[in-house]
Amino acid sequence: MFNFNIAKLFALTLLAPPLAQALSVPTSTHDHAHNHEVRRSLPDTWYQPEDHAVKALFRRAPDDGNDYPPVGSPAWSARFPRSTPDPNALPQEWLDALAAAEAAGRIPDVPISSGTPNQNPRYPPGVNPTSPTVCSSTYKCRIDGDIWDGPDGVFATSFDDGPQPYTPKLLDFFQSHNLKTTHFMIGVHILAYPSQFMATLESDHDIAVHTYTHPYMTTLTNREILGQLGWTMLIIHDSTGGRVPKYWRPPYGDSDMRVRAIAKEVFGLDTVIWNRDTDDYSGNATLIADHMNQWLPGPKSPGLVVLQHETSDVAVDGFINAYPSIVSHGWDIVSVARAIGDRRVYQNAAGSRSNDVVPAGIIAIGRSDAPSSSSSSSTSNLSSTPGAATSTSFSSTSGSVTDLPTTTIGTSPQNQASQPNPAPTSAAAEQLVGEYRLLSLSVLAILLTTCLLS
Ligand SMILES: [Zn+2]
Repeated sequence: MFNFNIAKLFALTLLAPPLAQALSVPTSTHDHAHNHEVRRSLPDTWYQPEDHAVKALFRRAPDDGNDYPPVGSPAWSARFPRSTPDPNALPQEWLDALAAAEAAGRIPDVPISSGTPNQNPRYPPGVNPTSPTVCSSTYKCRIDGDIWDGPDGVFATSFDDGPQPYTPKLLDFFQSHNLKTTHFMIGVHILAYPSQFMATLESDHDIAVHTYTHPYMTTLTNREILGQLGWTMLIIHDSTGGRVPKYWRPPYGDSDMRVRAIAKEVFGLDTVIWNRDTDDYSGNATLIADHMNQWLPGPKSPGLVVLQHETSDVAVDGFINAYPSIVSHGWDIVSVARAIGDRRVYQNAAGSRSNDVVPAGIIAIGRSDAPSSSSSSSTSNLSSTPGAATSTSFSSTSGSVTDLPTTTIGTSPQNQASQPNPAPTSAAAEQLVGEYRLLSLSVLAILLTTCLLS
């Protein structure tokens, strides 16, 4: 029976945030919607083509897929930075590739922008963000080769900021309608939600890069950009049996000629922005529906590249509720990665279930416990404690995923900014998502505690 007073309820409310954090970190076996075993091995047939540009950056063992620690295990999480990557502790191969691209003049010398709360990132005085040499996507400048529009008649779907506790709901809906989507994932969220990550992969959805800790990328140095992209690619690579992501989306849509060049020239990544923003981070279901009702009856050319998030029930429901109208208006619903370019999802594979990659007998880099058959492994400097020097968000140094943050984004000054002008999205709104999620989980924690005490 229920037998506690207002004071106790108040005390429980105070306890709710830490409880919520504990509850929100999944275990490998307790996932109500997807009881996946994250230790399940993927096929061992994933290799990069011998002549692939990024082959040297993400080397693999011939028997890859079996040698890496199980996704979600402490040994697995210990391989990756726990917070913002340290630009002084990057694999030498990445640094060499960046240096080579810089020396070849392939990385434009665009000034670094600065983040100011409640404003878009700003460039130094005299630098025009929409000039061809800068071309900031925050200021809606489109760089040739970046993806903003979809093919005619296509509603190109993607969901950002996962994996998340809301991911299984999204996967269930997409599976029930035999649909796939592209998930632009955050590195530390993969660490925090390995079960949801594996469920996404095993559902044959597309895994793409949304950086490691979700910064405004134009505010970072070249090395910091390298770390944000490289570590996210590596955790995806090492957790998917060796697939190398092909696409990335800059957080807040913030990229420019320099940032996109590092992504492309060093890591082979193509930049995906969007041409429609659902504002689903607002938590306002009516606003999402109003947007959809405006777009869906509209012209079919260009196709829609829609910004959505898997960061709350409201955000996920934004697509689910709009689905009948998307169909009735004749849109072809396709994952953005499968709607554009050559429709291949990964640089070294067409998709998560295809076998069209060329085997290459190469080794895993920079890992002291990796099989060693080449001297290149000794050139890496990441084998000690990746990211340890910059880990400021955690009090624990344990390898367990349970001490990872539940709301990693929205902790930097930039993330508290809003974007009042033509920016593709609002930083403050993205933070709202995290707060909304925390609030929801707090309520859940209270209810569970209530049950335990009654
Ligand atoms: Zn995002």
